[in-house]
Amino acid sequence: MKIHEYQAKFLLSQYGIPVPRGQVVTEPAEAKKIALELGNKVVIKAQVYAGGRGKAGGIKTANTPEEAEIRARELLGRRLVTQQTTPEGVPVSKILVEEAINIRRELYLSIVIDRKTRLPVMMASEAGGMEIEEIAQVSPEKVLKAYIDPPTSFQPFQGRRLAYGMNLNPEDIRPAIELMGKLYQLFLAKDCSLAEINPLVITMEGKLLALDAKLNFDDNAIFRQQDLEGLYDWEQEHPIEARAAQLGVRNYVKLDGNIGCMVNGAGPTMSVIDLLAQMGGKAANFYDTGPAPVPEEIANAFKIIADDPSVKVVLVNIFAGMGRGERYAQGIVDGYLQSNTKLPVVVKLSGTNVEEGKRIFAESGINYSEAADLHDVAQKAVEIAKGKRGGKS
Ligand code: ADP
Ligand code: MG
Repeated sequence: MKIHEYQAKFLLSQYGIPVPRGQVVTEPAEAKKIALELGNKVVIKAQVYAGGRGKAGGIKTANTPEEAEIRARELLGRRLVTQQTTPEGVPVSKILVEEAINIRRELYLSIVIDRKTRLPVMMASEAGGMEIEEIAQVSPEKVLKAYIDPPTSFQPFQGRRLAYGMNLNPEDIRPAIELMGKLYQLFLAKDCSLAEINPLVITMEGKLLALDAKLNFDDNAIFRQQDLEGLYDWEQEHPIEARAAQLGVRNYVKLDGNIGCMVNGAGPTMSVIDLLAQMGGKAANFYDTGPAPVPEEIANAFKIIADDPSVKVVLVNIFAGMGRGERYAQGIVDGYLQSNTKLPVVVKLSGTNVEEGKRIFAESGINYSEAADLHDVAQKAVEIAKGKRGGKS
């Protein structure tokens, strides 16, 4: 789970990591008011679930409160496209108005889980700022790493190694090590999957400050992170994915084709998507039903798939095991009738209670046709999507 920069900064400050003074707003006039309160120059920062804002025009400076209002108006309500977003971009409906900092150095500091060692790894670099991705690729030696063993926690010697490696001035070493320890405490306590400060700056006045902050949380641990509940900004998602998540439909990912897909198993779903592509078709979504869904879940998932305006046909490929055939069939028929659609559905159903499932389809009156096997269901779906075949067969 992601959160916005302003929320991440609030958490950092709770853990004793200094951040610039600032306030999140949703109206240009409020930006002026906050700029007035902060005094001096301010920075206006688009709050979106994507990095690379600086290069994409999502970070603007303003010398006066009046200019802050103008810059805020330029950002609010538009969509921001960065290197990390889709071409449609993400909506900007909140901006952070922050004091402009006089920067001496931009450093990089982050913690992620390293998959190989299965340990948190702290990464630090003296080459922080907007080019860190390129630097990590071209000169990986500039990114220092310290693997953290949870039982012994983050050790001062590791901090010293990173701090000296970043070529910090002697007076900055101790505060930097303290800050690293605090970041690890936060990472651990909040079940983060990523905690990144880029840039971590040393100001002209010689202070360490987190100028940007990115925190991601392990979705499997959210249940025990009560205070994070409600922080998620659904608006940043694709609207269909947001609706899916709100209806409890997990494992739905929007894709850019026109063939809706309902398949059980992530592997089979990937195979179907590949097969469609091979036949010249394109999936409108990834959706894995999971092993034994109840009909209500299937119905909701079907509605999500069928209500997508780009969908021309829905492909169903189910091998019923624990999830019995008649339960899939009932869910799909319910979802079809509830969504008031006329979309053609191509069904390949096999496995447990398949006869009962087929009976439910046959008696439902929905616009469906049967397919013999995986190849057949994909072929029929592609033909319908291309308009070469009607809905009924
Ligand atoms: P992103 O990583 O999405 O590009 P950042 O928050 O890292 O966004 O901002 C990009 C750059 O903008 C920073 O590297 C820094 O140089 C500058 N910047 C960001 N916030 C401030 C601030 N409060 N004062 C001065 N400069 C800032
Ligand atoms: Mg940044």
